[in-house]
Amino acid sequence: MNVLVTGGAGFIGAALANRLLPAGHHVRVLDDLSAGNPERLHADIHFTRGDVTDKPKLWALLHKVDCVYHLAARVSVPESILYPREYNATNVGGTVALMEAMRDAGVKRVVLASSGAIYGEQTQTLVTEMLRPHPTSPYGVSKLSAEHYVTTIGRLWGIETVILRIFNAFGPGQPLPPAHPPVIPLFIQQALGGGSVTIFGEGRQVRDFVFIDDVVHALVTAATAQGVNQQIINIGSGVGTSINQLAEMVGRVTRAAMHILRVGTESGGVSRLVADIAQAQTLLAYRPQTSLPAGLQLTIDNDVRFRQR
Ligand code: NAD
Repeated sequence: MNVLVTGGAGFIGAALANRLLPAGHHVRVLDDLSAGNPERLHADIHFTRGDVTDKPKLWALLHKVDCVYHLAARVSVPESILYPREYNATNVGGTVALMEAMRDAGVKRVVLASSGAIYGEQTQTLVTEMLRPHPTSPYGVSKLSAEHYVTTIGRLWGIETVILRIFNAFGPGQPLPPAHPPVIPLFIQQALGGGSVTIFGEGRQVRDFVFIDDVVHALVTAATAQGVNQQIINIGSGVGTSINQLAEMVGRVTRAAMHILRVGTESGGVSRLVADIAQAQTLLAYRPQTSLPAGLQLTIDNDVRFRQR
């Protein structure tokens, strides 16, 4: 297949592009490098630097493409609270521009990387795709809006659409920006650095951490699976882990003499968000292969930032 991965120089996109290439696909990547790094990509991947709202660039890249994986997005919840207009422009405007360009180029299918963030606070232990979303940030709103555009436009124009609501992905190469870093690489860095692992508040927030290889496998499968048109599918591990439990696991896996420093209060966000993955099991034969402890070990072993210590 000829595929385009938007946001393909990012954490998930690069892992996906590098997986598709050895499977025999011709892989093109579009990324504006606002957060991505093209050095992550195998040399045989056709990389173009550009904005996902740039339709002429999209047209050129979509020639003879069979499937688009749409991952280009601004991805920080706290940042989205400061800059909702920018999040809307990229995450919603970029999605609509892509759909228009796909229609013009005659592309058959799009797989959209959406997010568990669209659910917001829910009462259920496991969230199913049927629940009414209550996003609590502009980021969540933008991803939900992108979902609506993709399914609605797809239905109107005969483009097949598959939406994957990804929960908390982690693994080697996950960015560690100084402002609002994701919790797993931050804890590993803090533990291996011999310092304290910082937990805000009680550490009782529960999340669904899913290893990058499982996310990539689901994305790959979604491009060719039958009976998935117009479907929305959770991609998580199905297992809830509190921040306190995560800190303990990081301590065990790193074997670091770390101690936990509790400061302030929890930094916002919902109290619990864990995926019901029954739909993914049925439609994509999805079975997460890597447990959280195993994924933490793989992250430490395969991430150059942690190996050098
Ligand atoms: P990432 O920031 O590493 O990747 C996003 C990529 O998009 C970056 O390389 C960035 O440079 C690029 N990008 C941003 N704006 C762009 C624009 N205007 N034009 C072209 N490229 C642009 O983040 P990620 O974690 O790899 O996320 C990939 C996708 O998966 C996103 O759509 C995100 O919303 C979704 N997602 C990720 C997670 C997770 O846990 N990592 C969870 C749920 C959903």
